[in-house]
Amino acid sequence: MAPPSHLGTALITGASSGIGALYADRLARQGYDLILVARNRERLNALASDLSTRTGRAVEVLPADLNDRAALAQVEKPLHQDASITLLVNNAGIGTHTPLLQSDVEQMTRMVELNVTAPMRLAYAAVPGFVARGRGAIINIASIVAVSPETLNGVYGGSKAFVLAFSQSLQHELADTAVRVQAVLPGATATDFWATGGLPVEHLDPGIVMRAEDMVDAALLGFARGEKVTIPSLHAGEKWDAYDAARQAMAGHLSSNTVAPRYAAGHGVSAACPSA
Ligand code: NAP
Repeated sequence: MAPPSHLGTALITGASSGIGALYADRLARQGYDLILVARNRERLNALASDLSTRTGRAVEVLPADLNDRAALAQVEKPLHQDASITLLVNNAGIGTHTPLLQSDVEQMTRMVELNVTAPMRLAYAAVPGFVARGRGAIINIASIVAVSPETLNGVYGGSKAFVLAFSQSLQHELADTAVRVQAVLPGATATDFWATGGLPVEHLDPGIVMRAEDMVDAALLGFARGEKVTIPSLHAGEKWDAYDAARQAMAGHLSSNTVAPRYAAGHGVSAACPSA
């Protein structure tokens, strides 16, 4: 049996396929021990056995449906208790392209529970121990739809906007600690995500679809560089820098005890109410 990793253990959700399985592969090869979470026990077992054989790292599986609050609590438990865990990869998620009129609200609710509630609760489980031990990081897999909610289903976009905003808030709150938080915003990536959401990836313009291996390798390079937000498919990186700088510059001006002049009584009423 290999000695415990000096890098510690990475807990990865949604590790049974796609992006999460690639994080598992790359992190094991870097020298992390792993705890793999998803619903499909057979796929997790097969991946764990392959990774431990190839890398010599300790790989545990923790099958769980993160939509089930009791099962989610079983994943929170090691994050509360296991001091060897140094990295949480909040990756499990689903999405779709359907507009509100063609979407089932119960399915949307399950999406919010998986994409929002689960990573939020897992971060709440992990961060206190990370802060107390002065060591730890979270990688939150958001999406480009976090800043482009018109692109796919609005609940999916909203859920990923939550992941981005929560990551940015944690980066701010934890700035004086050793704990790091990275938000990753993948563009379209070739995984089962698309077929699961009802739009097979073959229906997309191949010019916008990245190989999952390339996406994960770029995101991990961004992580190693200490990036707070990584968008592997955005070639003009300065566009994100300008967008984020504009957001932060506006932040100090958003609250006031007076109404902005454009909303003063009588100002522009006919333009605002063309039928009046
Ligand atoms: P994927 O291959 O479909 O992987 C999704 C993973 O989430 C699977 O391991 C799945 O495993 C797990 N999962 C789904 N429902 C779950 C549940 N209720 N409980 C526990 N695990 C569950 O898709 P992917 O592209 O790798 O997606 C990973 C993340 O990337 C998602 O958060 C997605 O929103 C994000 N993302 C993807 C793209 C893209 O174009 N592919 C773009 C931007 C962001 P089981 O079925 O075994 O549970």
